[in-house]
Amino acid sequence: MNKTLLLILSLALVAGVAYFSLSRDWQTPTLELTEATHVNKSVVATASDNRGLGEVCYFFDGKVDNQTCANADSSLSYALTVDLSKLADGEHEVCVEVADANQAFPNRAKLCRSYVLDTVPPKAVLESATRYMKRGGGAAVFVSTPERETNIHLTVGENQFRFISNAEGTRHFAVFAHPHDVEVADFKPMVVIEDLAGNTRRLLVGTVTRERNFKLDTLNIPQSFIEKKSLEMLNKEGAGKEAFLEMNETMRVSNRAKIKSVLSASQSSEPLWDGVFYRNLGAPKAQFAEHRTYLLDGAEIDHQTHYGIDIAGLAKMPIKAANAGVVIFAEYLGIYGNCVIIDHGGRVFTMYAHLSQMNTSPGLNVARAEVIGRSGNTGMAGGDHLHYATYISGVPVEPSEWFDSAWLETRIDDIYNDFKTEE
Ligand SMILES: [Zn+2]
Repeated sequence: MNKTLLLILSLALVAGVAYFSLSRDWQTPTLELTEATHVNKSVVATASDNRGLGEVCYFFDGKVDNQTCANADSSLSYALTVDLSKLADGEHEVCVEVADANQAFPNRAKLCRSYVLDTVPPKAVLESATRYMKRGGGAAVFVSTPERETNIHLTVGENQFRFISNAEGTRHFAVFAHPHDVEVADFKPMVVIEDLAGNTRRLLVGTVTRERNFKLDTLNIPQSFIEKKSLEMLNKEGAGKEAFLEMNETMRVSNRAKIKSVLSASQSSEPLWDGVFYRNLGAPKAQFAEHRTYLLDGAEIDHQTHYGIDIAGLAKMPIKAANAGVVIFAEYLGIYGNCVIIDHGGRVFTMYAHLSQMNTSPGLNVARAEVIGRSGNTGMAGGDHLHYATYISGVPVEPSEWFDSAWLETRIDDIYNDFKTEE
């Protein structure tokens, strides 16, 4: 009798242990908190569990009695916004605790992280800026911030212009543009300063811009040109509208995207130019932002905007760098043919296209008026000429302004000198 009872009890014990072992949820919930050092409002606690979550609670600075809780109602993952807005600015420790939905044996997880709460927008002063500019042209601005700021840029609609800053991160200089495709009424250059916590300050730059008319031009495209260029640029036999559009549209779009990425990747330094930009010799042929209509056998087949100026001189004439800088590109690039791009610092770049010869390579420093190649007709060029373009950040601008010493001095260099002169 005793033996039977012992056996039954033993079996019951084994069954009980087995039941609890199998039904028990062994997994602890996982917990994450926003990864940042500085915040301005809130952080997010994200919890997840393989079988479902119960309560999620948070508290500040070890004050567990003042915790705030929410019930995750057995959901597998749950995001809880931890509101820091009632705390004073300064360093705070945020702790989050979570339990899974297991009623009998809840598994718990806890995570703490320290943040600097900063709700004060950065201070900034617009120290000086160009007073007058023209649509399609350039200007400059100098901004000071009493504290080191992490992110400062200037926007004009969709366009962004980058600043260069002093070592302390308290003085900032940018060259910017009135993009030719932005209407005068829509031109509102805005400096945006963002601190580590994500607080922002906006300053409207009061530079006055003026309207200007861009030239309209019509180009007759001979069939022989399309045939010749198809072989060179597409490496296949082509004729007619389709081959022309493959070069003038599809290829143009990808070439311009490439230029943008080359300019954006360049770590532009402080301005390297010294005095007015050199203009290569020759007759002006096409102007900046000229709007072109292309005709084939009298029919309109395409429209494009010309991002530079064309200069035609002697065939295969030596092409000189407009100013001191660093070569950042020297390659064959579709419609631009053999193409050299120079970074002049201050996020100002010049480009030389359709070259027959390139006598430089990326990484080389060049001096003002140093020979970098010879003119030609590679890419989308009918005859030997130089296509010369100027870019500010990624935006093409009127190159002629930079050939004018009075313009350069009053519109750009004066602002830069203010930036350089510590008071
Ligand atoms: Zn051109």
